[in-house]
Amino acid sequence: MSRREQYLQALGVDIWQARAAAAGGAASAAADASSAGATNDDGDVALAWQRLRAEVASCTRCELCRTRTQTVFGVGDTRAQLLVIGEAPGAEEDRQGEPFVGRAGQLLNSMLRAAGSPREGVYIANVLKCRPPGNRDPRPDEVASCLPYLHRQVELLQPLLILAVGRIAAQNLLATDTPIGRLRGQVHRFGASARPLIVTYHPAYLLRSPSEKRKAWVDLKFVRTELARLRTSARAATI
Ligand code: SF4
Repeated sequence: MSRREQYLQALGVDIWQARAAAAGGAASAAADASSAGATNDDGDVALAWQRLRAEVASCTRCELCRTRTQTVFGVGDTRAQLLVIGEAPGAEEDRQGEPFVGRAGQLLNSMLRAAGSPREGVYIANVLKCRPPGNRDPRPDEVASCLPYLHRQVELLQPLLILAVGRIAAQNLLATDTPIGRLRGQVHRFGASARPLIVTYHPAYLLRSPSEKRKAWVDLKFVRTELARLRTSARAATI
């Protein structure tokens, strides 16, 4: 089984369907697992991460502090070149204190492998650090209160690329109400440093709508090629 077929299988996409759709198409780009790019995890940055985490853990800026079990700050490699951003913690994330656990988390892990960036090598965070009760959508005032933390995480991480997963994350990060279907397939910009940002579907949505996994596969190939391009540019800039 080819590498591409293994990825499709991991995502739960029927291989016969993929072959039919891929007829005449180009093969996926080879993985670029190099670790070129600026490293930013010196002592000062590590201390800044610690301080930010402690600040979030005691945050009472919005009313979600009253109902949370704990804050969900984020997890992963603080030198990661890819930052994954979801919406908000769910029930299991609230219990465990880590984003994207459970079935949706497992599918996200498969998606990240398909994008050539396994979970261990990326950083994962949410727009909101506390769980909205009943998993309701985040309210604008809650996003406004919490988003500065995410901006500071981006400043510390300086990722080459951001992957926004799901409609809520994408629309809040890009300050738009454009449907997710129209946000996919292009490179947006996020924050003061105009970080490149790509949008795809939330794994929880893909579990409910498996027929959309093929579109997610297209997005992940886009992430892979864009990340490779950005790494090459970053390397060239350091020469
Ligand atoms: S959601 Fe964000 S702003 Fe609201 S209490 Fe939690 S950490 Fe603070």
